[in-house]
Amino acid sequence: MALCLKCGMKAGALRTECDSCRLEREAISKAALAEQQVRTQEVNRLRAEAAEKDRTDRFDSYISDCFAEFEAALDEGRDPYIYGSTVINVESSFGDNTVGSPPDFGTLQHLGIRGWELVGTVPSTFGQALTNINAGGAFGETWGAGVGGLVVGAYLILRLRITRQMLTTSRKMIIEALEPHFLG
Ligand SMILES: [Zn+2]
Repeated sequence: MALCLKCGMKAGALRTECDSCRLEREAISKAALAEQQVRTQEVNRLRAEAAEKDRTDRFDSYISDCFAEFEAALDEGRDPYIYGSTVINVESSFGDNTVGSPPDFGTLQHLGIRGWELVGTVPSTFGQALTNINAGGAFGETWGAGVGGLVVGAYLILRLRITRQMLTTSRKMIIEALEPHFLG
């Protein structure tokens, strides 16, 4: 009967470790592994926090740069703007068919009341490929024609003039307009 190298108790034939020492060793290594996992998670959490804080710092600095530029433009007597966009439906005729739906300018009017001015549009278009089907013939379905460029919607490009007062009173709205342009 071999003896356990660790505690000197009976370990069983050809063994150097008793069951009790083996279980203890396994429990310790399991605990060490769990502890390691907790440490790794903690390190990852701290890293993510640091990255998030870095991003927040960079965003804050981007915003204060933008506000400094607004101030500088106003100091020089220029009119700074923020830009935004909204989408409207547009109706197009296609032979006897109509695609899209009539525009509703209610949103535009509402934005106009709040000082936004329409400065441009970008059409959103629709195209359709047409094919000829040669039933029973050798060529099957062949390219016939295509129609494209039907305007089914439009992006309205809007701008809002920024006054010195708005840098304080509308700070949140200005930051929201600038945020999509922050590159990280
Ligand atoms: Zn033992």
